[in-house]
Amino acid sequence: MRFGFDIDDTLINLREHAFHIYNKKLNRNVGLEVFRQLRTVEIHEAFGMDKVEGGKMWTSLLEEIYFTDCPAFDGAIQFLNQLQADGHEIFYITSRPKEYCPRTKEWVKKIGFPVKDEHFFCGMQDDEKINIIKDLQLDYYFDDKPAVLKTLNDITTKVFVKDQSYNEHVTIPRVTDWTTFRVE
Ligand SMILES: [Mg+2]
Repeated sequence: MRFGFDIDDTLINLREHAFHIYNKKLNRNVGLEVFRQLRTVEIHEAFGMDKVEGGKMWTSLLEEIYFTDCPAFDGAIQFLNQLQADGHEIFYITSRPKEYCPRTKEWVKKIGFPVKDEHFFCGMQDDEKINIIKDLQLDYYFDDKPAVLKTLNDITTKVFVKDQSYNEHVTIPRVTDWTTFRVE
């Protein structure tokens, strides 16, 4: 089978990692309970910032957010390595900005995910992911972002949402825990 994965907040806990960095940079101590109640993919509301301020903060910290010690979700690295061991094909489809793509691929390899160079797609817009998913004829695709998932209604690929506070309204099959998740 052919499996496709978004990376940020599907396989790795990027927003929470960024949340800790924001607290440190802003010398704040906003609690994780605030983080867990966010209904937006963006995290700036938790720090009382508006969209513009939040966007600037995010961009200014991207290096640190992307390339330090962001953890994978429990079981995610093991799940993908098991898929590979079982003979499945694994593809990554991430909309990180183009200039960060080569280093992202190396970073994802370094933390233990199985990556074939030609199976790593990066730098597209959210609404362009569907074209790649179709071209690759994926059997399964996993993402966390409502803006992406809403474009994937009409495809034969089985789509799963990685459970997050901002996607509770999405009514497709859900991955809550990679340690116990299995496809039928
Ligand atoms: Mg994502």
